[in-house]
Amino acid sequence: MTTADVLARLPLRDDLRGRTPYGAPQLDVAVRLNTNENSYDVPPEVVEAVVEAVRRQAGSLNRYPDREFTALREDLAAYLGHDLTPDQVWAGNGSNEVLQHVVQAFGGPGRTALGFTPAYSMHPLICTGAGTAWVDGRRGTALDPFDLTAEHAVEQVRRHAPDVVFLCSPNNPTGTALGLDVVTAVYAASTGMVVVDEAYAEFARPGTPSALTLLPGRERLIVTRTMSKAFALAGARLGYLAADPAVGDALRLVRLPYHLSALTQAAARAALAHTGALLSTVEAVKAARDRIVAGVAALGLAPVPSDANFVLFGGLADAPATWRSLLSRQVLVRDVGLPGHLRVTAGTQAETTAFLDALADSLLD
Ligand code: PMP
Repeated sequence: MTTADVLARLPLRDDLRGRTPYGAPQLDVAVRLNTNENSYDVPPEVVEAVVEAVRRQAGSLNRYPDREFTALREDLAAYLGHDLTPDQVWAGNGSNEVLQHVVQAFGGPGRTALGFTPAYSMHPLICTGAGTAWVDGRRGTALDPFDLTAEHAVEQVRRHAPDVVFLCSPNNPTGTALGLDVVTAVYAASTGMVVVDEAYAEFARPGTPSALTLLPGRERLIVTRTMSKAFALAGARLGYLAADPAVGDALRLVRLPYHLSALTQAAARAALAHTGALLSTVEAVKAARDRIVAGVAALGLAPVPSDANFVLFGGLADAPATWRSLLSRQVLVRDVGLPGHLRVTAGTQAETTAFLDALADSLLD
């Protein structure tokens, strides 16, 4: 009897039967460019600060942590700026958990969420997990298959009247940021919560405004961020959001008590005290990204302009075959399921060279 046979017999929820879990491969490969991590190790001074902060906490782990993560919310508000106050900030174990809190509170059975595909694959998975109907909205104009105009987005919001709308800017997997006109138009057209997932905001090209600037006077707007990307702390699991203080009160109704461990809070605060050192790699990552865009174009392929730490490129005759060919050359990238396209994370200069060399070779296969 296989586990699939047993699973078929378990009294699993009907709406979860036949579903596929999130599954970016975690393979032991020399060059791992498939999950948009920051390839640079945590700097030694930050390692010291985190270890010291965790050491100070260890003796009191017999007690539950501060359920309200008060000091961490203060630090996150200070980092975000825009005159945000700590009661406008909420955090969780990665922005995935923060998004899950939002869907648990504002979605749920009988409710609908809308996103504009292709976008972050966890948005529909989080909704399904919380029993929320997912509507796969569309992007694309006559000129650009991945662009999302305010008009197109508003038309879809009006048609589906969702309880939660997901916007992703810069968008994963396409890489480009949205104009704030799309956010304001979607907000004005909807009566539900509008989530702008800004996981990659720190990598945006100059002049790209954040939806944080739109928060005043918009109580249904939520902007999510993470320490997993620019801050190079994916392993620590710390994501957060900014919104009206009332949104935090809504999320308190669904979060598990003490969801952020004392160790997580201590590590995140120690890291936030070294923001300069942690974010010092952002410019190098952006340079690697721009090098990938140029290098991929020079190979005759079609990169999508990117505001993130990754590049989506098209023009491949057989994307799964190129993915396998790159893997055989010790380079792991992401097949996001878009025909003819692959997505690659901008890593170190050496990783970028390895990727571009492997790609050039694999096109000759
Ligand atoms: N949003 C987007 C757009 C992402 O790409 C990711 C991670 N790949 C996340 C959110 C979640 O990241 P985390 O849970 O590590 O904060």
